[in-house]
Amino acid sequence: MSSLSITTYDDSARLLVPQDVAFNFQQDSNVRTLNSGSQSAPSVGLLYVPNVTGVCAQSLPQNVTRYQALSVNTPAFAIAPWISPSCTLSYLQAASNDMAVAFVFYVPDQINAPLASANSPTWDLGDSGHWRSQTAYPVYAVASQVGQMTMQQLSLYSGNADSVLSPQLLAVHNISSDAHLRLLINITTTSSGGTNLPSIWIFLLIILAILIVLIGTLSLTMHIIQRKRRNDLRARIARGEVNIESLGLGKLTVPQEIIDRMNTYTPSANTIVPEKGSSQASPPLEQSTCAICLDDFTESQCQVRELPCRHVFHNNCIDLFLLDTSSMCPLCKQSVLPEGYVPGKITNAHVRRDRYLRRNAARRARHAAAGNQTSNASNLMLFGSQARGSTNASAHAPPIEMTSIPEHSGMQTAQAIPAAPATTQGRREWARGRALAMSGLQGASLDESEQPEPRTSKARKLLRRIFPSF
Ligand SMILES: [Zn+2]
Ligand SMILES: [Zn+2]
Repeated sequence: MSSLSITTYDDSARLLVPQDVAFNFQQDSNVRTLNSGSQSAPSVGLLYVPNVTGVCAQSLPQNVTRYQALSVNTPAFAIAPWISPSCTLSYLQAASNDMAVAFVFYVPDQINAPLASANSPTWDLGDSGHWRSQTAYPVYAVASQVGQMTMQQLSLYSGNADSVLSPQLLAVHNISSDAHLRLLINITTTSSGGTNLPSIWIFLLIILAILIVLIGTLSLTMHIIQRKRRNDLRARIARGEVNIESLGLGKLTVPQEIIDRMNTYTPSANTIVPEKGSSQASPPLEQSTCAICLDDFTESQCQVRELPCRHVFHNNCIDLFLLDTSSMCPLCKQSVLPEGYVPGKITNAHVRRDRYLRRNAARRARHAAAGNQTSNASNLMLFGSQARGSTNASAHAPPIEMTSIPEHSGMQTAQAIPAAPATTQGRREWARGRALAMSGLQGASLDESEQPEPRTSKARKLLRRIFPSF
């Protein structure tokens, strides 16, 4: 919104004449701010026309108010027609020299045309708007009609009071005939002009602040959710509901204190059953050889360790493997970690992996259920077409063959492997390698399991840091 008023004051901006007697004009809106100016300027000032020469001054009425006719103590507002770029520049320069605080332009002879907007090419001086940044004071535009009327009035209010008011009026209002009556303009604008950059910046800053707050809130919420998920996962691991091997928790090994808690003993004659398959003995007594080194458990000469899966190995053969390489029994791939064991740190990657696995499992379960239904349906159809007694192989999935412990698997690879080194240290390392080979955890696959998400770009990592739930 903007407003414009022009009234008659004396040249020191004192109201001498009642407004209904002298010139008085008021208008709401219809003022364009062509340039908001780099310095704060008063919104009130006495109007005058800057002195320019040549064609630029030709269309002006006689005796318009000039700068010299104003009191030096009053802010001066310049007014001039917008005729051509060169004339405008001359006017702007002249107003600068006069120390004018603002400039008011109007396009002459366009009485019926609406006032062009602040961004209109009308106000283009062919310098890509450079003139705006060069002009320190505000520049306004008013309608053609208002400008021309004001200019006519300025030719009246440039001399002494008796040149505009009759002697009777001067007498009635007690105004000296040699008093100076001038036109005072009051322009107020609120930031509706198209070139009001500061307001645009404030707007952008507000948008930016809102965005930052939104992103921050979202990120914080996601971090809280993710922390809860990590705690939930930790609790589920502690309850033994999660297969920690499948979470890709990196190289999962067994701490020494857990190894120490496992049963260890020196086999004696009655713990070892020489003939395999003897029914009276229960595991671990079935094992007569260490599957890692393929040596027999010689009586009273070695220490053996029994894993929770009841497989037995030499201490020397299994301990280093569990401590350094894997938490799984090399024979049956069962984890030797106690139920509820929570390894180290649960990260967001583990949460994501867990969720992914559970989603997959749920999807598989749904598929299986759907498959059962369709296979049942097809069974009915088959029963309709086939003989009653025919057995339907597809009705039941073939039973999964229980993978029994391959007692001979060690034997098969025995020929391929080099003999155990003689030194104790060398032998332990060798045994670890053997156990690794048995577990099927070769070097490459082990590395892969250590990095469940190897192809994560930096941008994605950053995004995940800010929005961990993605
Ligand atoms: Zn052994
Ligand atoms: Zn086992």
